[in-house]
Amino acid sequence: MDNAPLVLLLLVGLVVVFGLGVVVLNRRKAGDRVAVESPPAPSIEKPPSVAEPAPLAPTRRFTKAAGIFTGAFAGVRAREKITADTWDDLEETLLRADVGLTVTTSLLSGVRSRVDKKEVVDPSGLVDALQTDMAAQLSANARELIFDASVKQPNIWLFVGVNGVGKTTTIGKVAFAQKANGRNVLLAAGDTFRAAAGEQLQTWAARVEVPIVRGNEGGDPSAVIFDAVQSAAARGCDLVLADTAGRLQNKTNLMEELKKVRRVAEKDAGTVTEVLLVIDATTGQNGLSQAAQFTEATNVTGVVLTKLDGSAKGGIVFAIETQLGIPVKLVGLGETIADLVVFDPEEYIRELFDSEV
Ligand code: GDP
Repeated sequence: MDNAPLVLLLLVGLVVVFGLGVVVLNRRKAGDRVAVESPPAPSIEKPPSVAEPAPLAPTRRFTKAAGIFTGAFAGVRAREKITADTWDDLEETLLRADVGLTVTTSLLSGVRSRVDKKEVVDPSGLVDALQTDMAAQLSANARELIFDASVKQPNIWLFVGVNGVGKTTTIGKVAFAQKANGRNVLLAAGDTFRAAAGEQLQTWAARVEVPIVRGNEGGDPSAVIFDAVQSAAARGCDLVLADTAGRLQNKTNLMEELKKVRRVAEKDAGTVTEVLLVIDATTGQNGLSQAAQFTEATNVTGVVLTKLDGSAKGGIVFAIETQLGIPVKLVGLGETIADLVVFDPEEYIRELFDSEV
């Protein structure tokens, strides 16, 4: 019986070990249960992602028109020195972009004299100087569309230009913008020589929900516009947007017709406050020579340059403004109703010169 305490100790030890085992097992089970039963961590416990929103990419509206310039200017900037090649590159770029020979020559001789005087010493400075000079050519012109509440009402805006340049489409877009501006607009379908022109304008009038006055096909355009102006005055409309013919039997007839349209439009009510010449940017220098003829026939107050979304010849803007002395007031950037923007020369220059915009 001497072993009795030892046996007792052994028994106590066994009980303790057993007890510990049970406790551990229970804890494990409990742990398992918690893991299974716990609901998925609610997402609100996670701090919401607070990453900075990515800055909005600056919109480039003139990508196509700027195409010829941006790559070439970046190439010139990358050069180490101003060499004969630099001048050749710049000249080729300006001509390819349809800036025109006269304007290109005068721009380059301006910067060349600054290089000669050591005011400009490297290729990057040369591109900067060109940018300043090109910007200066555009910035001086007033570009607001003229609406004058003090003249004999309504205001009449005549749209002139050859067939296919985008006159009808532009009138639709301008009607939409002016109506949104609070003006009471009426359309005059003065292109009675092109069969589809009246139909097309009618569709725009329905889309924008403005009244339209049409005449008979082949009828006298001046008479249609006169009637439209009377109708606008009677209805209290303050703005008539008048389409005109883009082609007659010959150029002389067309120009005489336009002179007559203008005279007759103002005969009774109404005042012509804008004559907007519509030019298709994709026609380049050709558009420019058309423009010269129109400016001889009527007092053109502004240019609408259409299809700039499809033309790489963005230099035409400089040719128009410097050679014709007429401000580009509106720019067409597509075929839909909202694709007409007021021309902003600063934005334009920025896009032409900065490939990183
Ligand atoms: P109009 O004969 O001078 O009246 O010319 P239209 O208004 O009928 O336009 C001729 C074509 O040019 C149509 O297919 C128009 O959708 C299209 N157009 C007009 N303006 C623009 C523009 O800014 N961009 C593009 N891409 N197409 C245009």
